[in-house]
Amino acid sequence: MRDQFFDKLEWPYPVKWHVEKEISADVIVLGGGIAGCWAAIAVAKKGLKVVLVEKGATIRSGAGGSGCDHWESAATNPCSHVTSEELTLAMIEDHNGYNNGISHYIECREGYDRLVDLEKMGAKIRDIDDEFKGAEFRDEKTKFLFAYDYENKFTLRVWGSTFKPALFKECKRLGVEIYDRTMATSLLTEECRQGVKIIGATGVNGRTGEFIIFKGKATILCMARPARIWLFSPGLPGISEFRPLQCMGDGHAMGWKVGVEFTMMEKSIRGQWSGERSYPPYGTGNTHNTWYACSMVDANGKEVPWIDRDGNILKSISQRYRPAPGQKFFLKGGGESDFHLYQYQGPDTPPVEKLLENGFRLPFYADLPSMPKHERRAIWGLMVGQEGKSKIPIFQNYTETGFDPEKDLLQSYGEGWTSASFLPRERQLFGLPGGMLNDWDLKLNLEGLYAAGDQLFASDCVGHAAATGYYAGRHAADYSMSESEPTIDYLQVKAEKTRIYSLVNRSDGFGWKEFNMLITRIMQNYCGEVKSEELLKVGLRLLEDIEYNKAPKLYARNPHELIRSLEVSNILTNAKIIIHSCLARKASSKHLHFFRSDYPEVDLPEWHKFITVKLENNEVKVGEKPIDYFGSLRENYEIHNKEYIEGGVEL
Ligand SMILES: Cc1cc2nc3c(=O)[nH]c(=O)nc-3n(C[C@H](O)[C@H](O)[C@H](O)COP(=O)(O)OP(=O)(O)OC[C@H]3O[C@@H](n4cnc5c(N)ncnc54)[C@H](O)[C@@H]3O)c2cc1C
Repeated sequence: MRDQFFDKLEWPYPVKWHVEKEISADVIVLGGGIAGCWAAIAVAKKGLKVVLVEKGATIRSGAGGSGCDHWESAATNPCSHVTSEELTLAMIEDHNGYNNGISHYIECREGYDRLVDLEKMGAKIRDIDDEFKGAEFRDEKTKFLFAYDYENKFTLRVWGSTFKPALFKECKRLGVEIYDRTMATSLLTEECRQGVKIIGATGVNGRTGEFIIFKGKATILCMARPARIWLFSPGLPGISEFRPLQCMGDGHAMGWKVGVEFTMMEKSIRGQWSGERSYPPYGTGNTHNTWYACSMVDANGKEVPWIDRDGNILKSISQRYRPAPGQKFFLKGGGESDFHLYQYQGPDTPPVEKLLENGFRLPFYADLPSMPKHERRAIWGLMVGQEGKSKIPIFQNYTETGFDPEKDLLQSYGEGWTSASFLPRERQLFGLPGGMLNDWDLKLNLEGLYAAGDQLFASDCVGHAAATGYYAGRHAADYSMSESEPTIDYLQVKAEKTRIYSLVNRSDGFGWKEFNMLITRIMQNYCGEVKSEELLKVGLRLLEDIEYNKAPKLYARNPHELIRSLEVSNILTNAKIIIHSCLARKASSKHLHFFRSDYPEVDLPEWHKFITVKLENNEVKVGEKPIDYFGSLRENYEIHNKEYIEGGVEL
């Protein structure tokens, strides 16, 4: 599958294959998204030298680069009626324990601090123009706008498209050395061995192909999470998955090779908002997240009722934003998870067949005109206008083509909020998926290595990425202060250079797109919804086969194709991590969306624990951790963060 476009195109940048440079810093941050920028800021504020390596352009890169419409878990904001403990424990309970108690407590404890910092950097977090004066969801004193649970007020509506440029400016102001358009490709280890201290990373420039060695006393991984494992659209690669194309889990693959320990990688859920069959995210009317809590009507204009967690039909729109009787608070908005311990069951929750049986007619529509004025403008003006991926494709384009929320309904065919039906084997790492296992310093199992944001297991959201990024930054900075200059083993560097440049000496072989397709087919067929030892082992064998027989035939005619080819090699590694994790859990689990036909019993008490996997001497080592391994949230947080607690927050 040769990309004809590049056959005709002359590469516009000077190509510097094999040219090498070396950079040294106290702390190296890999990935300049939300978490990476915050990590770099925390290190720079301690007066240390920090280098930020970003595959795209830091000013707008990553899942949070184009925006976000809400900031979750701001438990410490002055209007909140829940504590950080209450909120974290609810999130843990909502997932039956399969959650990252440490990182989400950090999110609840420090997320609001980061939001206030963002405002000082020039981002917009309050309704300073009084656009929503008098709205039920506005606090008149602070001018904060809240989403979802209007009684407990811990999720804020925000102008997220202002965040990344503000963070970028702040990084520059603090002297963070930024290497944009540079893909981190491998981690460097002491004495070139697996399972030991990390002393930096290697990278390659996506425009020139130049090779860079980054030497650091501490390294922070902020490269988000794997994608394109089960889903990839060669014709429309940019919308293969919900998250951006280039955020496909390089960090996981790099970490795996040097011995980082992972957990929950066996969890995957059915696809959402991805590929050419789906509409663009938030581009159809629905009731979830950004569109919470829009009224829906059927083809005859008949309104779909809202029900609470107990099955009672709600009588007013205002009730949709309040906890059910006897419920202290509810998490988020819309039927995102199957486990509604704290959620309303909105009209998108029942299968559409059930609605049809009850006399409703396809298609359905979001009825914005019938919503109260402030709610309508909050959904269409603010949330759809600020959400990642929807500002230009949806808000701007629909408006320009004449969509008027005061008059027009927006169609939703009736396949729930995700706007397309996916097969059980078309899966994603989504909804708090697995990742790297962290301790209370956000340190990983290897000396000198930290992680933040979506790189961590059971992670999600901008507030979480900001809080954990800043937190990992200050802990990595403290660690680096007691370390001496590392010594690189240049044999390791040479091996990585050989691996990278072996792809550029060919103009024929396997293109990155067909290689990605191959992986997704194997994963769909052998690691779909229903798994078994037999299927998983065949899948692993096929992945190993393409690793040894086809990966060496990947080709790159220019630095762009080099980056894409290195990415698909990493996708293959990530697929293997997933299969090893699936083989290691010999039991089914509802909350992990994990079903094994050879171990059909669901949620056996003896399997209610984290299963871990890592490489040790190139062999897969399986381990486990108690489901509450993080211990007491408040106590542990306070032991590990005395300086932060005493010093308060200051920019
Ligand atoms: C459409 C959409 C809407 C969302 N809306 C919200 C919302 O309203 N509220 C909310 O809280 N959350 C939202 N999220 C989730 C949120 O954006 C993410 O959880 C958050 O951005 C994670 O931050 P991160 O820094 O871990 O990852 P990212 O922000 O994705 O950053 C990762 C960075 O790493 C870089 N990178 C990757 N590989 C490499 C490599 N090899 N070398 C160098 N750099 C690399 C990437 O280019 C990227 O810049 C949304 C996500 C999407 C996709």
